[in-house]
Amino acid sequence: MCDLCNHSPHLRGCPNEPPPKAIHECVWCGSSILEGQDYYDIDGEPWCENCIKSSRTTAED
Ligand SMILES: [Zn+2]
Ligand SMILES: [Zn+2]
Repeated sequence: MCDLCNHSPHLRGCPNEPPPKAIHECVWCGSSILEGQDYYDIDGEPWCENCIKSSRTTAED
């Protein structure tokens, strides 16, 4: 039992909560994709949301 939040496991946002684990690393920018975070799996390769967003563009003639 945690003495700060009185819960086990910790309540969300408890300062004693262990930091989220990095599960993947974005193939493009190398940033960590943390446990519980959404990411894109493209042909088995992990892409973070930022890289997908910055790759999105509009077709123009
Ligand atoms: Zn706690
Ligand atoms: Zn990325």
